[in-house]
Amino acid sequence: AIIVRELSKAFNGRMVLDRISCAVPKGQFVVLLGPSGCGKSTLFRCLTRLVEPDTGTVVINGTEVTALKPSALKALRRQVGFVFQQFNLVKRFSAVDNVLAARLAATPLWRVLLRRFAAADRQLALACLDSVGLMDQAYQRAERLSGGQQQRVAIARAFAQQAELILADEPISSLDPESSENVLQILQRAAREQGFSVLCSLHQVDLAARYADRIIALRQGRLFFDGPASAFTPDLREELYRAARP
Ligand code: ATP
Ligand code: MG
Repeated sequence: AIIVRELSKAFNGRMVLDRISCAVPKGQFVVLLGPSGCGKSTLFRCLTRLVEPDTGTVVINGTEVTALKPSALKALRRQVGFVFQQFNLVKRFSAVDNVLAARLAATPLWRVLLRRFAAADRQLALACLDSVGLMDQAYQRAERLSGGQQQRVAIARAFAQQAELILADEPISSLDPESSENVLQILQRAAREQGFSVLCSLHQVDLAARYADRIIALRQGRLFFDGPASAFTPDLREELYRAARP
């Protein structure tokens, strides 16, 4: 689970996140909505301190992230599966090697250099690719995969990492409609069936309404809505995206 309390961040004296409190419970697929510039990516980055929040606390799986020494952040980030808009795969590695890369921290360096991954790790990586429907592309280089396939490799990597948390910032923004739904289905399943806490930002409100367990919406750095997807009414939706008046 992720628990955020009173999180604030300013850039150049301008509040980009203004006392945000929210939570992503284990086993839930939570979608983060809000107009461009409302602070979604900044919130994502603050969660693992890729950007340092000014005030407030973040707790991930019982660890108070905001109290950790910088040297402990790397280990914390290994508990998190990241799925970004720009597919963050090693282009020249095959799909299966990208998934295996998630397990490098637990693998002695000489094995990595010789690509002697433990057989059990390789089995696990293949099983993870299978669960996102990519078994037949396992040995294809990442750069030869489509955008949707690359996002699915990134999700398989989170599975292999045995992360308990997936942070997906606009994972479908460059995908076609069919791949988009496919990726959302996989993220929803990861939450419901595998018990991940999933936070995913989207610009497609219709898809959010269809797939999310919970919706969190930001507007100009403030928490605008936090509740079950069914409570996010058309009126709220219209208000969220209405141009801000000075
Ligand atoms: P989008 O939907 O377009 O991705 P977003 O909700 O993710 O938007 P953020 O990227 O979090 O928005 O940006 C929120 C605000 O903070 C924007 O006004 C942006 O210009 C500003 N901002 C983000 N990062 C920085 C930075 N490193 N330095 C200064 N300003 C920043
Ligand atoms: Mg963003």
